[in-house]
Amino acid sequence: MTNTDTVDAIGTAIQVKELAVAGSEMVRITVNTPEAAEAVPYVREQLDRMGIDVPLIGDFHYNGHRLLTDYPACAEALSKYRINPGNVGKGNKHDRQFGQMIDVAMRWNKPVRIGVNWGSLDQELLASLMDDNSKRATPWDAKQVMYEALITSAIDSAQRAEEMGMQRNQIILSCKVSGVQDLLSVYRELAKRSDYALHLGLTEAGMGTKGTVASATALSILLQEGIGDTIRVSLTPQPGEARTQEVVVASEILQALGLRNFVPSVTACPGCGRTTSTTFQELAKQIDDFLRAQMPVWREQYPGVEGLKVAVMGCIVNGPGESKHADIGISLPGSGEAPVAPVFIDGEKRLTLRGENIAQEFQVIVENYIEKRFGTQTAAEVA
Ligand code: SF4
Repeated sequence: MTNTDTVDAIGTAIQVKELAVAGSEMVRITVNTPEAAEAVPYVREQLDRMGIDVPLIGDFHYNGHRLLTDYPACAEALSKYRINPGNVGKGNKHDRQFGQMIDVAMRWNKPVRIGVNWGSLDQELLASLMDDNSKRATPWDAKQVMYEALITSAIDSAQRAEEMGMQRNQIILSCKVSGVQDLLSVYRELAKRSDYALHLGLTEAGMGTKGTVASATALSILLQEGIGDTIRVSLTPQPGEARTQEVVVASEILQALGLRNFVPSVTACPGCGRTTSTTFQELAKQIDDFLRAQMPVWREQYPGVEGLKVAVMGCIVNGPGESKHADIGISLPGSGEAPVAPVFIDGEKRLTLRGENIAQEFQVIVENYIEKRFGTQTAAEVA
């Protein structure tokens, strides 16, 4: 999701492009004011001009029914609407305003994500479930009631959309919370009780390592259980950190689980007392940065390159073995070893690098391998 002011159509389009280039396959933007709704078609136009066809999702709260009705060009330009049932109005306005958004979605044939969040849970629904709970012979604890409110809010809203005529396959549900165990409990139950597509995300996961680890932990467990159709990692950027970091983390989660490949992976050892310098760390980083930077071009040029495995290892102990498991690998000399770096291609030792330019030479070898294997020539010609 972008963090630009959507009214700044150019700035928003640039950030959407950055997120798409980093690997995001859909990007959500805030649509919170008439000015933002007016800007949405221009954001789409800018992206189309830049050749970026990533779908845009509008994030609506409080006034989405009005914005989508009053700004049809916005409704048309968006590919999906996120509706938060906790923020569509209170009392008798709730159903009417929710219905207005569903009406617009059906008019433009757009899917919706019914996105419940425990930070903005429908308080009337929660109060009613608390009342019901107090009448139970053995009342549930407060957390259980909150889980039930999240799930009920999502499923009831989806059913209401279906009653209005929306196709089931146009509805995606999410119930985001910020605790890992809470997320697991809610989504397991949600998956048990419905067969709508599910969007996963640990909301307000936090910054840096904490947010990354919490998101990876929660999403990996659910994905491994077969729960979830789309994911988002919600990271608070550290000062100076790129917004794209959350896309990198999300794609690494899918890649680590073996569900999708986004960029060639670099296997590198942690280093130990056998490594006498930072050469192998620098080489691993250089190769990783290089492969990642090339992907926007390579995605088109070299189909399948995202599945490439490269190994950069620090010494002879695991270096040759790990390098043989990779498509292409290098085993740098550890302490006490001869200053040579054997290179392995497709499991075979092919050459040995030595001297001051090992890093540059290895990068050229990787580039040539990619060109031959994923370019116009076939894999057999690489040998
Ligand atoms: S491969 Fe060598 S340098 Fe790397 S961690 Fe293992 S023993 Fe240490």
